[in-house]
Amino acid sequence: MAKNGATYQQGDLILSEDPWVYTVLSGEVDFRCYHCLRLLASADSSSPLLNKGNRCSACKYARYCSVECQKKDWKERHKAECFMLKLGGASSVRPPVHFLLMLKILNKLKTNFDDLMSSKSPSSLQKKRKTRTYIDLVSHAEELWNTPGIMEYITQVRIMLGKYLAIENDAELPYVQDVLQMFGKIKCNGFGITDDSMSSCGVGIYLEGSALDHSCSPNACQVFQGPRLTIRATKAIHGGMKNVRIAYIDVFVPKEVRLKRLMDGYLFECTCPRCLDDTQQKDAEMFSIKCESPKCALAVPSDERAEAPCKCGHKPKNGEVRLDRYDLLLEELLQRVDRFDQEGVGCEFDEKQWKEDETFLHRMEDLLHPNNPLLACFYSMMGRMLLSWGCETAPQYFAKAAYIYRVWMPAPAVDPVMGYAFLQAVERDPAVGEPLDSFKRLIEAEKILRFTHSKDHSLYREAHAALRLAAITVNKICSRNV
Ligand SMILES: [Zn+2]
Ligand SMILES: [Zn+2]
Ligand SMILES: [Zn+2]
Ligand SMILES: [Zn+2]
Repeated sequence: MAKNGATYQQGDLILSEDPWVYTVLSGEVDFRCYHCLRLLASADSSSPLLNKGNRCSACKYARYCSVECQKKDWKERHKAECFMLKLGGASSVRPPVHFLLMLKILNKLKTNFDDLMSSKSPSSLQKKRKTRTYIDLVSHAEELWNTPGIMEYITQVRIMLGKYLAIENDAELPYVQDVLQMFGKIKCNGFGITDDSMSSCGVGIYLEGSALDHSCSPNACQVFQGPRLTIRATKAIHGGMKNVRIAYIDVFVPKEVRLKRLMDGYLFECTCPRCLDDTQQKDAEMFSIKCESPKCALAVPSDERAEAPCKCGHKPKNGEVRLDRYDLLLEELLQRVDRFDQEGVGCEFDEKQWKEDETFLHRMEDLLHPNNPLLACFYSMMGRMLLSWGCETAPQYFAKAAYIYRVWMPAPAVDPVMGYAFLQAVERDPAVGEPLDSFKRLIEAEKILRFTHSKDHSLYREAHAALRLAAITVNKICSRNV
């Protein structure tokens, strides 16, 4: 037990675990190593998209960054599924991620399939085990059962399973209830795997990690190195593992968005302290708009208080109109961010799209208070877009995002997305930009990533190396000025 009686102090390792099953996102399969999830680097070009890596010659689906990854993957998992991917024609019609995970689960359960599938599992088996297994994963199958269209979907999945497993006889396929349950378990327990640049690259099921509950004000964070999951405390945690809370979704969005995303994605109603605050006062204060008076810098809550006089004395004339505009902006923001998330690293520079995003950003900046985290969300999306295109202006956007996150997570709070934003808020070329600004941002990045990622992580090492370089530059300038 650590000092102050807390089980975990900030930065303490809570859990480190390899996935039970995982897969690269269907849209990313051409760009990433099927085993380590790294972007496939090119030897002769700076574009990662030109080199397609070593492709599995049998299924023509999986690609690898190296022979080592290919060999390891074959031994550990691909051998069992390769012929299925070939049979199903996965290389020409990309199956959805859920389906790929199902194949992997079926392979895992093959040896004791009958024991582990729900409708046939003897309860005596459950009592004997110490570690978590497939049976322990929640599926919310009852709620799923009542979802419109779910049965049609499960029927399709079974037809697809027949194709991939070469089973023609319906009676030999897994039962409808078992497929539904498997689908539910994947939905409720799947972790979105992100790479060092916080881009989604895969989905995995972690038997121990999936036991951790969600909160919209979490005290721990998840970070990945390849497919390996690590959970670290971002605050001191008392009372042991049962009080550890991670965030399943981006929590810097208003309550109604969080509730919808958690219900759609994980089939539960969030009852964290932040969501139980019925008044939603705090949310409206966080996601604030500007005062109508151009001379005033105060934040106005985005609820009915927007129609009351501001603390500066200004009486708003368009309070209601501005609240309507806020709702529309929020809706459009979510669409734009979703679009970016779906396109992923494969997206190419699209000038028209970029201009539209820029115009949209200006509309947000016109209405929203500069500290509104919705702006941070969009700034970091734009930064990531620019970064993937190799544009030099990316750091400006990351800097804006990073400082907004700092307002809501003041030091000593740490968060992986904030740490990443500070790291990217620095010009890669030390000759460009303000050396002192870069230095300060890298200090922040190093301080945060040390806790969220630990000193062993490649992203931390990148920050540490950049900070050392920046320190040398700042030193030179200081000694010149003396
Ligand atoms: Zn690899
Ligand atoms: Zn293969
Ligand atoms: Zn919540
Ligand atoms: Zn005002």
